Amino acid sequence: MKQKLVIIGNGMAPGRMLEHLFERAPDAFDVTIFNAEPRVNYDRIMLSPVLSGEKSFEEIVIHGDGWYIERGITLYKGHRIDAIDRDAGTVTSDQGVTECYDKLVIATGSVPFVIPVPGNDLPGVLTYRDLDDVNAMLLAAQARSKAVVIGGGLLGLEAAAGLKERGMDVTVLHLMPTLMERQLDSSAGYLLQRELEGRGINIITKATTRAIVGDGYVEGVKLDDGTVIPASLVVMAAGIRPNAGLGKAAGLDVSRGIVVDGCMRTSDPDIYALGECAEVGGEVYGLVAPLYQMARVAAGHLAGVPTEAFQHAETPTKLKVTGVDLFSLGDFAEGDDREEIVLRDASAGVYKRLVLKEDRIIGVVLYGETADGAWFTDLHKKQADISDLRDTLIFGQAYQGGASADPMAAVAALPEDA
Ligand SMILES: Cc1cc2nc3c(=O)[nH]c(=O)nc-3n(C[C@H](O)[C@H](O)[C@H](O)COP(=O)(O)OP(=O)(O)OC[C@H]3O[C@@H](n4cnc5c(N)ncnc54)[C@H](O)[C@@H]3O)c2cc1C
Repeated sequence: MKQKLVIIGNGMAPGRMLEHLFERAPDAFDVTIFNAEPRVNYDRIMLSPVLSGEKSFEEIVIHGDGWYIERGITLYKGHRIDAIDRDAGTVTSDQGVTECYDKLVIATGSVPFVIPVPGNDLPGVLTYRDLDDVNAMLLAAQARSKAVVIGGGLLGLEAAAGLKERGMDVTVLHLMPTLMERQLDSSAGYLLQRELEGRGINIITKATTRAIVGDGYVEGVKLDDGTVIPASLVVMAAGIRPNAGLGKAAGLDVSRGIVVDGCMRTSDPDIYALGECAEVGGEVYGLVAPLYQMARVAAGHLAGVPTEAFQHAETPTKLKVTGVDLFSLGDFAEGDDREEIVLRDASAGVYKRLVLKEDRIIGVVLYGETADGAWFTDLHKKQADISDLRDTLIFGQAYQGGASADPMAAVAALPEDA
């Protein structure tokens, strides 16, 4: 007889888990999903191209309605689970539906962090997490007025570029001295700022928001020096927090996220957690690559198939703003035990920096030319000894394998009509 598997949340992590599960044990479970968002599973990463107009929502759907029907999955769209009763083995939604489970998967993702300032709940203040946020931004953009984005990280800059593309006047407020400081060093952050300013996006760094001001609707953002930046739309993109409240209320071990072991099991052996709401080995994650690994591990475990436990790995970051090429991986803080190789061509807008420790790559920042990102990722992942490649390493893969250490030599070696 089939076991009953209930999943809370229908984001990218459980979507991938189900693909693996149906491959490995197609007949093991009757699956029911509750999703607070009133829709199927879609590629959340691609919301920025939807915002900018490069893609439609239909193009980013991962599993359409037919996918669920074919697999006999019951999907409750627009149902938020309010309570897990572990003694009874049930979950109950805000629409009053109660469902029993043999195994439960919590995959509630993250919640955007809303900075605690007066006026943060005014109409016109949005976060950037789901399709409803994108639709609300698009509606605001129709008025073609002014937007302020709070946060110059990956999400904030993608929102800013999208809103600019849609015709708004956009200002980005960033607390730190340079943009995306968690992924980029200050040189690359500066090049990025210059590029975005060149596109007409205003950027104010070292900007501390004091309040959102407005009479019944947002009218501006007040900084701590008293300046008010006019805005009819404010997008808060100041970080995310694991959405672990449901797990906590159910009495599961929760630290920053819902604590799981290497098999994605919570402190209750019948309950798994995966995705951004889960904390494994003391880490929580905000990019999909590790979440997909969690999905594979959880599916294997649920299917009873031997599967390697979850392993932490660094994930590269890219910004999805058309025409801006940047790539970052690992740790690029300065330190006495580290060396660096830097290539800088300011006029071409190219900057590359490799951070090495004991002849191994520990950090990579590429700006303007990112084609070698995958190669550097591979060397980083394998912890390859790069001492033999050192002289040409920064020029990338094309210059390896016996090529000259002089990058111009390779250019000169091209046939004249090439
Ligand atoms: C604009 C944007 C751009 C991004 N770009 C990148 C990128 O370039 N690269 C990258 O790797 N990652 C990117 N990410 C992050 C990536 O999208 C997330 O890491 C991933 O989608 C998280 O998947 P998840 O399944 O953990 O959670 P989510 O996809 O957040 O899904 C959680 C779901 O659970 C539902 N839910 C929450 N609580 C309940 C409840 N109580 N009951 C029922 N349902 C509930 C929510 O409505 C939501 O649909 C981006 C994210 C955003 C928002």
